[in-house]
Amino acid sequence: MNMTSIPAGPSPSSTPPDQTGIEAALEAVKDGAASSERQLAIAAAAPTAKGESARTWTEVKPQRKSVIPEGLWLRCPGCEQMIYRKQMEANAHVCPECGHHFRISAAERVRQLTDPGSFEPLFTGLSPTDPLKFRDLKPYPDRILAEQLRTGATEAVKAGTGFIKGRAVLVCCMDLTFMMGSMGSVVGEAITRSIEMATERELALVIVSCSGGARMQEAGLSLMQMAKTSAALARHDDAGGLYISVLTDPTTGGVTASFAMLGDVIFAEPRALIGFAGPRVIQQTIRQELPEGFQRSEYLLKGGMVDRVVPRHELRNEIARVIDFSGR
Ligand SMILES: [Zn+2]
Repeated sequence: MNMTSIPAGPSPSSTPPDQTGIEAALEAVKDGAASSERQLAIAAAAPTAKGESARTWTEVKPQRKSVIPEGLWLRCPGCEQMIYRKQMEANAHVCPECGHHFRISAAERVRQLTDPGSFEPLFTGLSPTDPLKFRDLKPYPDRILAEQLRTGATEAVKAGTGFIKGRAVLVCCMDLTFMMGSMGSVVGEAITRSIEMATERELALVIVSCSGGARMQEAGLSLMQMAKTSAALARHDDAGGLYISVLTDPTTGGVTASFAMLGDVIFAEPRALIGFAGPRVIQQTIRQELPEGFQRSEYLLKGGMVDRVVPRHELRNEIARVIDFSGR
């Protein structure tokens, strides 16, 4: 915009034609122009002073820096409230507002369940092979390696000996963070060996299940684990051994169809999804509306599939109590 066209007081001719807008405005002030004329000159000068293209408000507004670090708060899926992550974690990964049980890793489960420092891992050298040369989006060995690097675990189960409130146990915790806790040949083998060791050493056996079911990449080999673990449990039972099964969210597929449902005592965490096939598949098959709370712990308790729904805080107490009752 050419500012020279704006009348600037009594001596407009004094403004050179190449002067910028600001200078023109200052000139107008110096010359003692009428206030209305001065304001007009200043207002007209403003955009030219910033540059030819006027900026938008969002460009001008300073970017607000987030003072809250990522992940400090999270929304609880149970009550939809914003909860403080550290408070939830200190509360055994249970929502302090509504008691929603968050899913936890095997390492966290072992830490919560066993007496501090008592857990000694077993069968850590087992690693899956790929006899079927299976390939989905990527080869199975690549998938395994990626999961191992990501999680730092070799497979989807942590087994070992330890103490729960001073009672010696053999404990297996499935790991949902490793390929959805799916049961391949290594998971099956580690669980079978744990059962056999519990039988041999006359230890109480505790298996905490959480799994998406059999591992598709191992096809028939993963299905065989159902028979293998069940047979080992039958021998454990014949020998008078105690087996406490703890079902957590979610326990599905081949795991539900084998060792998870074979406990002498079966505990389940509140609101855990427990089933063989998913509810959608069942609904499509039977073409009927499924009841409220279908496949949840409380529903299974009513039907007699689960012996007791135990909140996470009480799990150690309840397991210790059952071991005492069994006289082991
Ligand atoms: Zn909640």
